[in-house]
Amino acid sequence: MAFEELLEDPVIQKYLHELVGPQGMPVAAAPHDGEVTDEELAEQLDLELNTVRRALFILYENDLAQYRRLRDEDSGWLTYLWTFEYDSIPENLESEMRRLRSALEARKEYERTHEFYLCGTCSIRFEFSEAMTFDFACPECGSTLEALDNQQLIDAMDHRIDELDEELPPLPAELD
Ligand SMILES: [Zn+2]
Repeated sequence: MAFEELLEDPVIQKYLHELVGPQGMPVAAAPHDGEVTDEELAEQLDLELNTVRRALFILYENDLAQYRRLRDEDSGWLTYLWTFEYDSIPENLESEMRRLRSALEARKEYERTHEFYLCGTCSIRFEFSEAMTFDFACPECGSTLEALDNQQLIDAMDHRIDELDEELPPLPAELD
């Protein structure tokens, strides 16, 4: 198999798992060398044809698989021949992680620069300005809104950002 080394990487396994889900994982985790039809894959992997097709289509949408159509001269049936294209996974993954990282940074900044209030009964969170509008009483149940310490949430985001930084290769600018 051409992508063995790539697929041993737990980060890449997780990425594929998030894309296709547990049901599609047998398809994504054992990419065929060369062309294969969805029917052949379903038989080899002992999966429902729909499950195989769904996984293939997700891979296709993420530029990880291509297909070409063949029409049977006699029956007119269309056959889809699929090719796995995993060469772009590391690149895809990196841009995905960078996107996640900047979303986390933005979210953390929002958490850090805003005050929040909580209704302990409904578990609804309000921004300070909202809470003030409601005169610090929950609009759902009338309970008094309590100031909420979101430091734990910020710490968790920091932790996740650190994890991403460890997994991400440095940007060219950071190499000097
Ligand atoms: Zn409430």
